[in-house]
Amino acid sequence: MSDNIECFDNPYEYLEWEYCRQKNKKVDFKKANIDTLFNLIKDKYDNVEFYEKDKNLFKKLKEIAINLNTPISEQDSAGYFILNRHSENIIKVANENNIFIPNGIILGTLPLNYLDAFTCVFPQDQRLIVLSEGLFLFLYSMGRVVSSFFSKINEDENKSYVTFDFNKDSINENLKTNKKGHNLFLEILILYFLYDDLSFSKIYYEEDVNINLSSVLWDTAELFIVAHEYSHIILGHLSAEKNFSKRFLDDNSMLYQVVRNWIEEFSADTLAFQLTMAKNQKSGYGLFSCYLGIEFLFACLDIIEKIYNVEFSETHPSAQMRIENLRQYFKSALPNKSQTIIDGTGVVREIMTTLWNINKDNFNYTVKYCFENINFKDIN
Ligand SMILES: [Zn+2]
Repeated sequence: MSDNIECFDNPYEYLEWEYCRQKNKKVDFKKANIDTLFNLIKDKYDNVEFYEKDKNLFKKLKEIAINLNTPISEQDSAGYFILNRHSENIIKVANENNIFIPNGIILGTLPLNYLDAFTCVFPQDQRLIVLSEGLFLFLYSMGRVVSSFFSKINEDENKSYVTFDFNKDSINENLKTNKKGHNLFLEILILYFLYDDLSFSKIYYEEDVNINLSSVLWDTAELFIVAHEYSHIILGHLSAEKNFSKRFLDDNSMLYQVVRNWIEEFSADTLAFQLTMAKNQKSGYGLFSCYLGIEFLFACLDIIEKIYNVEFSETHPSAQMRIENLRQYFKSALPNKSQTIIDGTGVVREIMTTLWNINKDNFNYTVKYCFENINFKDIN
């Protein structure tokens, strides 16, 4: 950070400024005209009923946003709701287990493509933690794609209870026949890595028929990410007394990443694992589903690392090392039950590996084509 940059005392004002800087054009959700917005995207929907449902949902979200009097314009509204919900849950579960979390932690998202969080402190001891908006969209979209390879075994009339087939033969069969799932997988990678904007994905305009499974995946993965950041704070990894080296987002930013040792990463993961499992078991997901979501998160991070061609960074060990650390912890914490759960949930990683192996040539070809055909000198 250079010395002459604008400094902020208020984290919300700063986040708003930083958001606008990162994303010059942004619709303010509170002021948006939902009818106009939905008219513009009407032809993207195949299903009128689903279109109307979405429109009503956004009208309600806007009403909530206006009435809540919360600082929502500083980031994308969906990101705000997600982070707020997860952080309330983590604080609650920590309190129930006599774990102290200091006040004044503010979570936000920015349109950045970093896997590690950025942070900074403000004069009144408030700490801002900023996560990548794109990562959350990636987890949501991938959760939907992965769950589309599972068949439903049964379902009650109210759709409140559904069982999915985890048999590997039937999943392998679906991996051969579900071409749409493969296309969406490829689309997500292209939008995330080439366009930096997953909101173009067709997946947002289609009903999620396997929502009972996909929601377990993305919801748990998001919760784990939030729990991981809280764990660094709980474990004192960010305390001001400590000297750590900082890597700033850019020359004009107050935000930085902390260059830390891997032991701190592994311990934050272990605590995040405990918090996530405690929270989700209470909400009725059960051990298997909750662990499934954690395996899913690291399978996603593994794909992202493969594409960026990084195995690990100074700040974080690789996704594979991190999930292996959690498997070992899980085995030591629950020696009787864990092995069956680890074996059964491995299918999520297998699906993602198969999807990557089948589609990577197409993906690499698209990347190569784009770079050969766009003359970056012309743009500048
Ligand atoms: Zn970390």
